[in-house]
Amino acid sequence: MNPLIQKYLRSEYAQGKRRTIFCPGCGNGIILGYFIRTIDELKREGKFDDSKLYIVTGIGCSGNIPAPLRYNIVRALHGRALSVATGIKLVRPNSEVVVFAGDGDLLSIGGNHLIHTIRRNVGIKVILVNNMLYGMTGGQVAPTTPMESITHTTPYGNPEPPLDACKLAVSLGATYVARWAVPLTKQCMQSMKELLLHRGFGLLECLSQCPIYQGRYVIGVDRPSKIMDYYLKITIASEKPSYGDRITIGKFVDHERSTYEEIMWSIINKAREGGNYET
Ligand code: SF4
Repeated sequence: MNPLIQKYLRSEYAQGKRRTIFCPGCGNGIILGYFIRTIDELKREGKFDDSKLYIVTGIGCSGNIPAPLRYNIVRALHGRALSVATGIKLVRPNSEVVVFAGDGDLLSIGGNHLIHTIRRNVGIKVILVNNMLYGMTGGQVAPTTPMESITHTTPYGNPEPPLDACKLAVSLGATYVARWAVPLTKQCMQSMKELLLHRGFGLLECLSQCPIYQGRYVIGVDRPSKIMDYYLKITIASEKPSYGDRITIGKFVDHERSTYEEIMWSIINKAREGGNYET
């Protein structure tokens, strides 16, 4: 095992007594590798204090991405990762809170939380792992599944147009939004770096391969390298998000505004100074 990766793993994983549950060729393991390397680089540059890091996940295969890491990790209820992450960020505003969530978890079951977390500009960093369907439960249609795709629950083709998470985030005033595909290592890691250093709400969407279900149903090939080729074929660089037959990739937004935790703590401090509060 690569010694750099090994030093960030819990002992049972580092010693090889336990393995991730990912199927061979899944993009989740690649994203985990990007995350570890990004943290390591930022630490070496003196820009990131991982002793303040809390990781929150939803339910689904991507919720297992941080499981081998030796950090504080909370596994929230399905779709509720952002609520838990908001609570941590409010109570500990100096903490670094990262959320890993899948497309079904974040955009369908947790869609309501996503809307309000973005508009409040809660200072948490979300890594959305989009494999275009529900993987863990057997390949059901998700809000990101392309129209007409065959899935376990749409045997005659998906009748719904897909949701563009990045376009939604931009329209709600998110302060950092980017989308890349897993085969684009350099771009994924550069965005992860920017995300971890960002002050307000940030969303990084990673188009990721699920060879087992996405490969079998949506794309029609199950070899991981072929799915990565598919991503390279259907993506195009742009400054504006769009998600259809072609999916645009790039950094769409990067600016700052007051965060929810800053505003809430200024209200709390004002109330305390005025003695106008009860304990
Ligand atoms: S079911 Fe799909 S997303 Fe889940 S671990 Fe297997 S390949 Fe990855």
